[in-house]
Amino acid sequence: MNKRFKKIISLLICLAMLFTLTACSSSTNTPKETPKKTSDGLSFTPGTYAAEAPGRNGILKLEVTVDESRILSVKVLEHSETAMLSDAPIQQIPQKIVEGQTLKVDTIAGASLTSGAILAAAKEALTKAGGDINKLMQGVEKEKIQVQDAETDIVVVGAGAAGMIAAIKASALGKDVILVEKMGMLGGGDTMMASTLLNAAGSSVQKELSIPNSSAEDFYKQLDGIATQKNMPADRTTLKTYADRSGAMVDWLVDLGVPFGRITNTFQHKIKDGSAPGTHIVAALSKELNAKKVDYRLNTKATSIIMEDGKATGIEIETPDGNYKIKAKAVIVTTGGFSNNPELLAKYNPTWLNRPTTGSASLTGDGIIMAEKVGAALYNMDQVKANYLAHVLEDGSAVSLTAINNHTVLVNHDGKRFVNEDHGSINYKSEQMMMQKGHEAYAIFDQTVIEDLKLMKGYNDSGYFISADTLEGLADKIDVNKENFLKTMKDYQSYTINGEDKEFGRKISDPIDKPKYYAALVTPSMQSTYGGIKVDETGHVISTEGKVIPGLYAAGATSGHGAAAGEVGYALIVAVVFGDVVGEQAATDIK
Ligand SMILES: Cc1cc2nc3c(=O)[nH]c(=O)nc-3n(C[C@H](O)[C@H](O)[C@H](O)COP(=O)(O)OP(=O)(O)OC[C@H]3O[C@@H](n4cnc5c(N)ncnc54)[C@H](O)[C@@H]3O)c2cc1C
Repeated sequence: MNKRFKKIISLLICLAMLFTLTACSSSTNTPKETPKKTSDGLSFTPGTYAAEAPGRNGILKLEVTVDESRILSVKVLEHSETAMLSDAPIQQIPQKIVEGQTLKVDTIAGASLTSGAILAAAKEALTKAGGDINKLMQGVEKEKIQVQDAETDIVVVGAGAAGMIAAIKASALGKDVILVEKMGMLGGGDTMMASTLLNAAGSSVQKELSIPNSSAEDFYKQLDGIATQKNMPADRTTLKTYADRSGAMVDWLVDLGVPFGRITNTFQHKIKDGSAPGTHIVAALSKELNAKKVDYRLNTKATSIIMEDGKATGIEIETPDGNYKIKAKAVIVTTGGFSNNPELLAKYNPTWLNRPTTGSASLTGDGIIMAEKVGAALYNMDQVKANYLAHVLEDGSAVSLTAINNHTVLVNHDGKRFVNEDHGSINYKSEQMMMQKGHEAYAIFDQTVIEDLKLMKGYNDSGYFISADTLEGLADKIDVNKENFLKTMKDYQSYTINGEDKEFGRKISDPIDKPKYYAALVTPSMQSTYGGIKVDETGHVISTEGKVIPGLYAAGATSGHGAAAGEVGYALIVAVVFGDVVGEQAATDIK
C-alpha cells in the first residue's frame, strides 16, 4: 500500500472518530474541516450561567457563556474529583461541547462519573440560558464513514508509558507508527495512576542535588541485592539495562517537562511539589506524541495478533465505528498487567482477588491473552502486588495513598500499631493488615503531609480524610480505643526523639506533631501484576518453544519485566526504560 493511500485511510478513520466526538482530535490525522454543528437554529439569552452537579467525590461547579446563537465557553470552576482520573474529562468534555455546540458528547472511558457531572451541570446552565435542550441533545450529524484497514511499519498496542515511549522512539528513528489505545484517553492505564516515585540512577536531578552513591552501578548493586535477598525471579541482564538506562530516561522526561525535583532514598525521583508523577509523565508524553505527529488512535482496542507463516504481521482492531485490521512489519504489545482480570488472578495468584483494586479498570491482560494465543510463553505470572494503603471510596473504587508511606503511623481499631510501617515488603504489610479487625487500619499523619504533598492536599480537599486539631479530637472522630491510641501516639513521638522504635524496629525520623492531625481508613487492595509475556532483554517475545516469535515485541507491565522488582515499586521505570528499548529494537529489526 503506498503512503498516500495509507494517509487517506488513516484520515477516514480519524474523521469517523472525530465526528463521534471521541478523543482522536489531537492525533495527527485531525482533519482541517470543522464538523457540522448543531448551532443552526440554536438561541440563548446571552450571558454567563453557573450550575453544579454531583460528581464522583462531591459537587462539581461550572459556568457556561453563550451569545444569542452559540455556546462560547464551558469552564469547570470547582470540583473535588479524584486527582489524575478527572484530568481528561475536565479538559476534553467542555471543549467538545463548544466544538460541537452540543450536549451529546461521549463520556471518557474510565472517568464516566466526572464526565457525567460535567454534562449534567452544563445541561442545567444551558437550560438557565434558555437553550433548547432537545436540540442540544441531538448531537452533531454523524457522517457515515466506513473504517478501513491500515498499514504501517510498527503498530504499538496500549498507550501507557511503555507504549507511548516505544511509539515516540520508533517514530524518531524514522518509522511509520500507529499507536492504538482502547480507552478514551492516553495513559489511562496504570501509568496515569502512578502516585509516588520513579526510581533511577545517574540522572541530572541526582547530580544537581549532589546525591551520593547514586550511580548506575550503585543502583544495580541495590537491585541485585534486593532480588537476591527476596529470592525474586529477576533476570540480571534486565536489571542491568534498566539501572544503566534509567538516568538518561529521567533526563529526557525532564526535558519534556516532567518537573522532577526531589530525591528520597538515593534513587526515588519525585515531583517538586509532591504531586503524582503519573499525570505529569502522561501529559509530557502526550505532548511529544502530538509534537512528533505520531498517529495515535483512542477508543481503539486490539482484539488479536495476526500471524502469517509464524510471523506477527498486524493486529485486529475493534472501534465504536467498526472493526478493521492494521498490517505492520512489527507489533509491540504494551497493554499493561491483569490486575482487573479476575479469571487470570484466580488462575495464577488469587491472594488479593477479592480485595478492592487500586489498579486501572482497563488492565484486563488483553496483550497477555493475545500473545499466549499465538504461542508466546508467559512467566512470573504469580507475581502480584497488593497495596496496604488503599482508601476505599463510597462507590467501591479505591485510591492509593502510597505517597504517605514514610510519613504515617498505622493503628488498628484497638488503637495499636501492628507492623513496621517502613518494612521493605508491601505484601508483608498488607498481610499484617489483613489480620487486623475489619482487615483495615487508620493511617495517621499530620499537617506536614498536606503541605508537602500536593496529591494528599487534593485528596484532603476531596474529603477522603478525617481531621482534628488535636490527637484527642481525632480519636473522638475515628473508631479506635482512645486510651490505647493516645498511648500509641505518645510512644511513637518518643521513638522519633530517640530515633529508636522499641516495638517494631522502624527507623523513625518524622515526628507526627504538627496540627492538624489526620486519619485515613486504609485496607489492602489488589494493585499491580508483574508477570506476563516472556521476552528477551530487548523485548523480542519468546515462544513456548524458547524461540523468538518474529515481528512480535512486548514491554512494560505486560511483559513480566516488572517481576524484577515487583515488590519494591520500581515498575514505572521498567515501563519507561523498556518502552524505549523495544521501540529502538523493533525499528532496528525492520530496517
Ligand atoms: C495506584 C498505583 C500507583 C502506582 N504508583 C507507582 C509509583 O509511584 N512508582 C512506580 O514505579 N510504579 C507505580 N505503579 C506501577 C506503574 O504505574 C505501572 O507499572 C506502569 O505505569 C505500567 O506502565 P505500562 O505502560 O506498562 O502499562 P499501563 O500504563 O497500564 O498502560 C497499558 C495501556 O494499554 C491499554 N490497553 C489494554 N488493553 C488494550 C487493548 N486490547 N487494546 C488497546 N489498548 C489496550 C490500557 O488501556 C492502558 O492504557 C503504580 C500502580 C498503581 C496501580
